[in-house]
Amino acid sequence: IGTKFPAMGTTIFTVMSALAAETNAVNLGQGFPDFNCDPTLLADVSAAMAAGHNQYPPMPGVLSLRQAMAAKIEALYGRRYDANSEITVTAGATQAIITAVLAIVRPGDEVIVLEPCYDSYVPNIELAGGVVVRVPLTPGTFRPDFAKIGAAITPKTRAIIVNTPHNPSATVWTAAEMRTLEELLAPTDVLVISDEVYEHMVFDGAAHESVARYPGLAARSFIVSSFGKTYHVTGWKVGTVAAPAVLTAEFRKVHQFNVFTVNTPMQHALARYMDDAAPYLELPAFYQRKRDLFAAGLAKTRFKLLPSGGTYFQCVDITAVSELREAEFCQWLTREIGVAAIPLSAFYGSGFDQRVVRFCFAKQDETLNRALERLAKL
Ligand code: PMP
Ligand code: GLN
Repeated sequence: IGTKFPAMGTTIFTVMSALAAETNAVNLGQGFPDFNCDPTLLADVSAAMAAGHNQYPPMPGVLSLRQAMAAKIEALYGRRYDANSEITVTAGATQAIITAVLAIVRPGDEVIVLEPCYDSYVPNIELAGGVVVRVPLTPGTFRPDFAKIGAAITPKTRAIIVNTPHNPSATVWTAAEMRTLEELLAPTDVLVISDEVYEHMVFDGAAHESVARYPGLAARSFIVSSFGKTYHVTGWKVGTVAAPAVLTAEFRKVHQFNVFTVNTPMQHALARYMDDAAPYLELPAFYQRKRDLFAAGLAKTRFKLLPSGGTYFQCVDITAVSELREAEFCQWLTREIGVAAIPLSAFYGSGFDQRVVRFCFAKQDETLNRALERLAKL
């Protein structure tokens, strides 16, 4: 049929989840919880549906949810976004990111991504006709290398996509790093798409450094959030974008014609739930305990653990366990050992192989223990 994107394959998350299902493996690959959300949130959905919230909401989203997000961002990061003109509800972070990219990237514009990066960024830029400029995070530590980022900025640079806490490496940017980014971009017109979907999963007492905390960044940024991550409902596909009014206006030009709007009852339920409580405040301790449980088990294997400062991912070096390449190792681990993981090479355009794979620990303790029993032989 004359394919438009001959090089575009199927996302690694679909591939590995399908293999895990087929082989009955414990799926620590694709990132999603295997436990249910708070029953109160489910009751809020039923209540919203019973109350008749079943037709189109306003194009930018249900106002009470935008107000709840504005209040949350202000309480946590000290910056006020106007619910009417600066916050838009999206079909998850995925649609938020592609919509932001389509809204700002013109054919030939350069967009910087920091590799390894989430697998939708590069195709999104390509779909917009932009030019992808890949800047590696520092090998080994996965920290931003500002000399390299600075060197990649040209008069054609339209935007940079940043992501902290970072998928897949589980690193968390420091305040000093955010300030450096702010200073680096100060003399430029470069826009920022800040993927903050793991904002509430930061461990060991560290703080999430939202771009909202940095005026010079906030003024040029789209902040992407996802309720799926925060409330254990990845299948609901609801998120938000917070951005200054001029950027939001551009964002909505595209949003209105790619989804128009997002399902109504979930938005009402999330708004009500956020009004009642701030359950995300418990998330760091909740996931840190799971990280520690999983890490303690892995410590008995020959995997070498990389630090996991945030997200719900744990990366391990496989060098002492296998001579296989990452992708083949993940296939082998799923089929032969019965545990699915994600190769880090999937987050690089070049398929760069550093013998590191990613496990997701957003699982019930019994699931983690079952996986650990299987991994114990390695
Ligand atoms: N960005 C990152 C870094 C992610 O890890 C994910 C989810 N895996 C997304 C965006 C997409 O989030 P959503 O499910 O809300 O579309
Ligand atoms: N963000 C999830 C991950 O990194 C997966 C989301 C998806 O399957 N697209 O595992």
